[in-house]
Amino acid sequence: MKTPSTTSEGSWTILTLLKWTTSYFLSHAIDNPRSTAEVLLAHALKLKRIDLYLQYDRPMHADELKAYKSLIKRRIAREPVAYITGTREFWSLEFNVNRHVLIPRPETECLVEAALAVMREGEGSDPRIVLELGTGSGAVVTALASQEPAHSYFASDISIEALAMARENSVSLGQAGIHFFVGDWLAPVCCSKACFDLIVSNPPYIPRGEINDLQPEIHRYEPIRALDGEDDGLGCLRRIITTASDCLAPGGVLLLEIGYGQKEGVEAIARQNSCYGEIAFDKDYSGILRVARLRKPNDREKWQQNDSRRL
Ligand code: GLN
Repeated sequence: MKTPSTTSEGSWTILTLLKWTTSYFLSHAIDNPRSTAEVLLAHALKLKRIDLYLQYDRPMHADELKAYKSLIKRRIAREPVAYITGTREFWSLEFNVNRHVLIPRPETECLVEAALAVMREGEGSDPRIVLELGTGSGAVVTALASQEPAHSYFASDISIEALAMARENSVSLGQAGIHFFVGDWLAPVCCSKACFDLIVSNPPYIPRGEINDLQPEIHRYEPIRALDGEDDGLGCLRRIITTASDCLAPGGVLLLEIGYGQKEGVEAIARQNSCYGEIAFDKDYSGILRVARLRKPNDREKWQQNDSRRL
């Protein structure tokens, strides 16, 4: 890599460096070259992005250039910006991320919206018990707790490293009351009684054979365990759908993020599992069916179902 040390007119300033990096990123087909340059330079200089423009003609010190150059190299090697800076915004909250956790995606905010809608049904009712499976960075459960602090929150992940990140995020964002535990989907809670009013999850759902076709940012850097949905992409969704009904309270809801084109497969699994009454799907902002909503009938509906079967 040609090093930005000095320009023909003298030393580098913030502005000349941003211009140079933008064209360098462009020539390497890096998305959003200008904003990426700004984010990385602000990170290297420990400034806010806006400050770059307030100090645009400030000359760069050699050690600042060195620090910035190493960030550029990482991005050229396709490392996601969020892992380089160690943060990603989700639900207008700033989450710390590292390579043990999936970077929160904008479409996952639809899962948060769907969960809030379920929690706000019959407003004024008792506090709800909410469980997130495969919490990763803790983004979903922390967003929910920050919006609806009166409820009880539990969250699990099979990765201890991910749980450490989730706990750190929940504490730094003022949600220290979330209970985290390690385990494989519902295994740690399967002996408890059916007590959860809401179970929410963004499980791995990419078909195994397609992972290497994803952008290098994803398949080279993000935790494969958080992406790998086994052969048909539905492996984890299937496991969660078939086991969650035993842990849901009567009338409780299971909300799952799903991938493009997975509605039919998920619907078929949910129908085979006769424990669910309502089965519905919500679209994300791109119009893709993204969230599956499966509701366990409440006792009265169940009694009516059984009763009509008897007649
Ligand atoms: N939405 C993510 C992606 O497309 C996948 C997340 C997941 O498997 N849960 O990269």
